[in-house]
This record gives sequence, C-alpha cells and structure tokens, in this order.
Amino acid sequence: MPISVNEPLLDGNERKYLIECIETGWISSEGPFIKQFEQKFAAKMGRKHGIAVSNGSAALDAAVIALGIGEGDEVIMPTFTIISCAAAVARAGAMPVLVDCDATWNMDVRQIEAKITPRTKAIMLVHIYGLPTDMNPVLALADKYKLKIIEDAAEMHGQTYFGKPCGSFGDLSTFSFYPNKHVTTGEGGMILTDDDALAERCRGARNLFFGKRRYIHEELGYNLRMTNMQAALGLAQLERLDTFVERKRHIGAFYTELLTHNPHIELPIEHTAYADNIYWVYGIVLKESVPFDNDEACRRLGERGIGTRQFFWNMHEQPVFKKKGWFAGEHYPNAERIARRGFYLPSGLALTDAQMREVAQAVNLMVNG
Ligand SMILES: *Cc1c(COP(=O)(O)O)cnc(C)c1O
Repeated sequence: MPISVNEPLLDGNERKYLIECIETGWISSEGPFIKQFEQKFAAKMGRKHGIAVSNGSAALDAAVIALGIGEGDEVIMPTFTIISCAAAVARAGAMPVLVDCDATWNMDVRQIEAKITPRTKAIMLVHIYGLPTDMNPVLALADKYKLKIIEDAAEMHGQTYFGKPCGSFGDLSTFSFYPNKHVTTGEGGMILTDDDALAERCRGARNLFFGKRRYIHEELGYNLRMTNMQAALGLAQLERLDTFVERKRHIGAFYTELLTHNPHIELPIEHTAYADNIYWVYGIVLKESVPFDNDEACRRLGERGIGTRQFFWNMHEQPVFKKKGWFAGEHYPNAERIARRGFYLPSGLALTDAQMREVAQAVNLMVNG
C-alpha cells in the first residue's frame, strides 16, 4: 500500500455540518457557518477579527491590498518560502526583498535590519514547517522602523511562540486550510487582525470592494469569498485542532526516534527557547555525505510507494522573477542548500506507527547506500 504524503482526518462533525448546509440550502458565502468559523477561529488564536477567504494565497493577496502596499514599496520576506508570499507582493506592484534562513529553516531574523530601506513598508514573516520564526526581534524592528507585519501562519495552526498563538503577531496574520494543513476546508484561508479598519479593508478586498451603494466601487478587489460548505468543514476540523497537534507531535517525535542515529541526514530541531516543533510536515535534509539530491531521493522513495515532497524552491531562484531581472547575483547559502537537499516525509494525520517504521527503514536504507 502506498503511503501518501499528507492526508487529513475527516471523521468528526464534518459530515453532519455539511449535510446541514444542503438541508438548509445555505451553500454560498452568505451562510451562517462562515461567521461562526471566523469567530471561533479568531478566538482560538486570540484575535478580534477573522476574515474567511478562498485559500491561503488569497489571504496574502488581501493582506497586501489591505495594507495599501503598491508601486515603489518593498516588503522583506524569507527567500525560502512558497511563491504565494512573493506573488502577492509582486502582483500589487511592490518588490519582495529577501533574507536567508537559519537552522530552524525560518527567516534569519538577524539579517533583516540590513535590508530595511526608506521604501520598506512591511515584513512578511512565514513560519516554516513546524517551528515559528523568532518573533521578538522582528516585533522590535517593526516598532523601531514603523513597519507593518504580515504573519503567514499557514502551517502553524495551534503553534505558539513563548506561549502566545502563532497568528496573533501580525498586523494581519494569514492561514491556509488546504487539505495538508492542520485544519482543512478543502480549499480555504483566513486573515486575522485586531484592527477594525484593517478588518474592514480585508472584507472589501475579499468582496470586490462593493461600496455602500451596490455596484459602485472606489477600489478594485477580487472575489476571494469562502463558501458556507467550506466553513462547515472548517468548524468541525477546528473542534479537533488540539488533538491534531498532539498527533503531529507524536509523528515528529517517532520519526526522530527512528532516524536520529543516521549520520547522513539532518533532522528538524525539536525544541527552541520559544516553541516546540509541531511538525506540520516532517522535513529532513541530506548531508554532504549523501551523493544525490532531494529530487533523486523523492524519486527513489516514490518507487517504493512512499509519498514525499521536495522543500520549497527559493524566491531568488524562481524563473518568473529571473525573467524580470530581479534578485540578480543574490545568494542565500542556507536556503540554497536546503532547497536542494531537503524534502519531507509522509506526515498526514492518518499515518500509523507501522507506516512510519516502513518510511524510516526506506530512508535509512537509501542514504546508507
Ligand atoms: C499552504 C501555504 C500557503 C498557501 O495556501 P493555499 O491555501 O494553498 O493557497 C501560503 N503560505 C504558506 C507558508 C503555506 O504553507
């Protein structure tokens, strides 16, 4: 039996709430589950407002629009992240300014200050794979230079930084509910904020900036609305977030136990001063002693029926930005190394201990040559 890379668990109240949508006829974004999901998700993360949107990338787009970021502005972000981050900034006409990652695979916050210019509007920070970015230095910089923070917490439902929920740090914080995330709505996303005006701007960006008088528009937005059916799923998923996080922690700890003696691979950091890893995915990085890269590793494990994914590909190495002449000559050695040597193992909530043993055995065999 193949072991898939990241499958959700849908055996709580998902069915019940979805049937309710059909029986009541509330299937669009006007339905009652939307408000409930927004409120409960925001409350769980300790925020005042939740704005549900169609996916996590859309949440970033809306956040950038809401902050009024545009032509001539710069936004500092990690190079090692998903395209959604840089795409949202680029589409708004602004410029992503990149920073290398550190041993946690998150943006190296010590390198941010040197990148700040008079054009810098915001820092977009992204919590990567299971450990949060070290927030305190970022918050201090934002305060010192009067910068906004967009916190991409798409992988971090249920994680905390010094005990405070991830998703509670940004002027705007964003989440994804794609099926491989800790909470899924099939496709979906959410923006969180404590700021009434910013929440209103996000709602506008989500809904074409419909004005008070319908069909008269002062600004251009998108249709980024979530449906009531998606919110129904999300609500059922949210009820079980704590168990999901516990399950992910078990998966991470068990993989580490099985792989820790292998001298050829770098494993995720389990503890930092500010958080314990929640292993959204369990990533490993091939050390120099391994004579092949992540593409080859994923191919070989795939042949054995084991689903894996290569790590993100860096923003400064993206063909789409090279064609624009962006980031020419820029190098970020840590990010370049892990993008070529890192990949993640099956990490879904339904994974069994027996499957993890099988995966670890295949990995050990592969890298021990
Ligand atoms: C998944 C993810 C997104 C995008 O979310 P979608 O719902 O797939 O659009 C954005 N940022 C990060 C860090 C992600 O992991």
